[in-house]
Amino acid sequence: MNLPDKSLCTGCHACYTACPAKSIAMREDEEGFRYPVIDTTTCTTCGLCEQICPVLHLGE
Ligand code: SF4
Ligand code: SF4
Repeated sequence: MNLPDKSLCTGCHACYTACPAKSIAMREDEEGFRYPVIDTTTCTTCGLCEQICPVLHLGE
């Protein structure tokens, strides 16, 4: 799955909330910014995270 690069991600948690397989963890970096990390061992590649991510749909 291709969620936006950390530099573009707003940390909105929408992907985290949407994932039916609970495969997304919000990891906190050294500055306290939380960004999603997908566990590829449990991800079913359903695509919901990409569908719901507002950053991937800017301008639509
Ligand atoms: S593709 Fe589906 S299962 Fe995989 S991380 Fe995204 S929402 Fe979760
Ligand atoms: S939905 Fe998109 S912008 Fe929001 S936390 Fe997930 S990857 Fe980042």
